[in-house]
Order: sequence, then structure tokens, then C-alpha cells
Amino acid sequence: MSNIAFFCIPAHGHTNPTLEVVKELVRRGNQVRYYSYNALREKIESTGASFVSCDDYDMQMHLSPEDGERIGKDIAFSTKIIVKMTLAMDETIIREMAQWKPECIVADSMATWGKLVAWKLRIPLMCSTTTFAFNRYSSKIMKQTLPQTFRMLCSMPKANRYVKQLRDKGYPVKNVLSLISNDNETNTIVYTSAKFQPCAETFSDKYTFVGPSIKLPESHVSKPQKKTVYISLGTVNNLKAEFYINCMEALGNANIDVVLAVGDTIDPKKLGAIPGNFTIAHSVNQIEILQKANVFLTHCGMNSVNEALYCGVPLVLFPQTPEQSGVAYRVNELGAGAYLRNDSPLAIRESILAVLNDDSYKHGAEEISEDFHQCGGYKLAAEKIESLIESSGQGPHGA
Ligand code: UDP
Repeated sequence: MSNIAFFCIPAHGHTNPTLEVVKELVRRGNQVRYYSYNALREKIESTGASFVSCDDYDMQMHLSPEDGERIGKDIAFSTKIIVKMTLAMDETIIREMAQWKPECIVADSMATWGKLVAWKLRIPLMCSTTTFAFNRYSSKIMKQTLPQTFRMLCSMPKANRYVKQLRDKGYPVKNVLSLISNDNETNTIVYTSAKFQPCAETFSDKYTFVGPSIKLPESHVSKPQKKTVYISLGTVNNLKAEFYINCMEALGNANIDVVLAVGDTIDPKKLGAIPGNFTIAHSVNQIEILQKANVFLTHCGMNSVNEALYCGVPLVLFPQTPEQSGVAYRVNELGAGAYLRNDSPLAIRESILAVLNDDSYKHGAEEISEDFHQCGGYKLAAEKIESLIESSGQGPHGA
């Protein structure tokens, strides 16, 4: 029984895979304290962890929607946010960690404030990576365009100037890359399989590719007779009203059911007349829908792709960021999905019908599903966290 602190960024995609891991750790008698954000409070508390709100320190909450879109795309801007958040939380977190004495910190790869506190206080660190693990080999899969690469290179010096502010506060960080990329010294859980991870062999034995952290409901859900298409662009960059309208035009008269999740901000009533075969919601229970779906048109967020492939559902690939392009590339390479050429109604209709009518995509998805089901998932992740505590000689409650 140990005290374990989790740190995550305010994003469903980075939180969701940790939920079953936390549940498992709590079930095994550990105390988990989870530093996160109010929007995620309910799902975190449902795991049995105690929730600590970091909203007061969340710089992202005060961003305009345009600036919000820059997160993850503009490296200097993202580093500035990370550094500001870390410095804002510094005093409180350091004091709380010193009092509560966690035996381990589990920090999302982007919740760098968790990782930095672990480094500063020399608490064993487990990095929780909900994307592919990135090093100089695997990051090539992101295939940035020339202007994107140019912008990234140009903003590196600025990003490194922000990192210096962390060093000035006693955080041992070399440069921006050591802050945001995975390294071979840190114990790391990655929520995909070694087969799906690009260049898995280039990561050290500190890495465990545990596969998707998913617990399917016990009752079996059978596929309905009519084919079902599920469409979602995830929970972050989903303000694409025109795209959703094009989806309705593309599939409104087809003999298939369509479930369209438009995210929290867009009002479905403002998308015009909704065809009878469409169900539109802000958010759906994605795992439940995927058990019924025959095809998923996705933005290729790592979790959405993991969840779909775990359920053996082939994909239509519509990536929006370089990271999502990397995931899309891998899915396509393994034959489990086809790209959407552009977002016109014609292209949407053709791509969906192509994946629906070509069994090879279904077979590709089923092969990956089999591989995913053989990984240890959330149970293995929990075991790895407990063995890290044991091997670091911490013992329960710092004994
Ligand atoms: N999700 C959901 N309902 C929705 C849309 C998304 O539960 O209507 C969940 C989905 O199951 C996944 C996460 O939100 O776990 C999205 O993560 P992903 O990495 O795919 O994309 P992001 O939202 O981070 O861009």
C-alpha cells in the first residue's frame, strides 16, 4: 500500500487511459491523489482517487480559442504555457509533496510540472504516455511539412529561453527537448502495443508498451443489422461546423445509421436540418458506440484510434495535427484504415463506403485488435507502478 500522485494535463485524451490504471491501484489498496482540472473531476473521483484541482494555475483556461488552437502546434507558445503553469504551482505542489510523501509520481508526458517536481524532490517517476512514445527515430513519422519544420526550428531558441526560467527555480532541465520528449532513463508506460508503436526497438527496457487501457463492459454488445458509421474529431480541435454539415450531405440519404459527436461547443441545432439516419450529440460513450460501429471517421487522436482498433473497427483517417498524422500513417501502413482525401461531401461518402465495402480494412483492424488484447493493459500498468516503488526501495509510505 503506497501513496501515489498522478499529474495530468486538462485533456480527456490524456486522462482517459489513466482511469482504469488508477482504479486498479486503488483496488490493490494504494492511496491515489490525482492533480487535474475541474472539468475532469467527476471521472477522476469515480476511480476512487482523491482529486486535487489545479484550475487556479491553468493558463490555458484564460486563452482565446485561437490561442487554444496553438497549443501543441506552436512549440514556443506551448513551452511558455508549460513553464508558466509549473512556476505558478511550484510552491504549493512542492509543499504538498513534502508533506504527503508519495512513493511515486505518475506524470503524463505533457504534464511536465509533475515530472519536474519528481526530479526536484527525487521521487520515483513513472511517465504516462498516451501518444506514441517520441524519440528522434519515431518522431519522423509525424512528417511535418516544410513550413511546419521551419516554424518549429525558428521557435526553438524562444522555447529554450522559457526553459531557462525553470532552471533558475532549481528544476534540472537541459533544454526544451528534454522537457517534452521521452527519454531512455525514465520509467515509461505507453498505452499502445510494441507492434503498433513506430520504432519500438529504439526505446530502452524502461519502456512498457501496455496496450490500450480499456475495460469493456461485461455484457456483450452485438452489431445492429444496419451498418453504423461513427464520426468524431475528438475533444480538443473539434470546431468544424462545415465539416459536420458536409458529413450530413454526404451520408444523409445513405442506408446506414450515422452517429456524429460534435464536441461541447458546437450547437447541433445550428447545423441545419438533421437527416433521419443521423444521431448528433455533443459527446457520446465512445467505447459503447465503437462496439456497434462498422467504420469510424476519426481525427486520429491516439485514444480514439486505440479504442477503435481494440474493438476491431476500421478507420477513415482525417488527421488534424502532425502527431495525428503520425498515428494515421501507422494505421494506414498496417491496413486498418484509409485516408480521407479532403472534407468535401463526395470525398467523405466515397471514403466511408470504400472502407465499409472492402473487408481488408476490417481484417487489418482485427489483427491489431488481437495484438492489443494480448498486451497487459491497465493491470500491467498498475503492476509496473508498484514494481517501480518496490525496486526504488521506498516501501509503503516511505518506509
Ligand atoms: N470521447 C468520448 N466521447 C466523445 C468523443 C471523445 O468519450 O464523444 C473520448 C474518447 O473515447 C477518447 C477521448 O475522448 O478517449 C479523445 O481522445 P483522443 O486522443 O482520441 O483525442 P483528443 O480529444 O485528445 O484530440
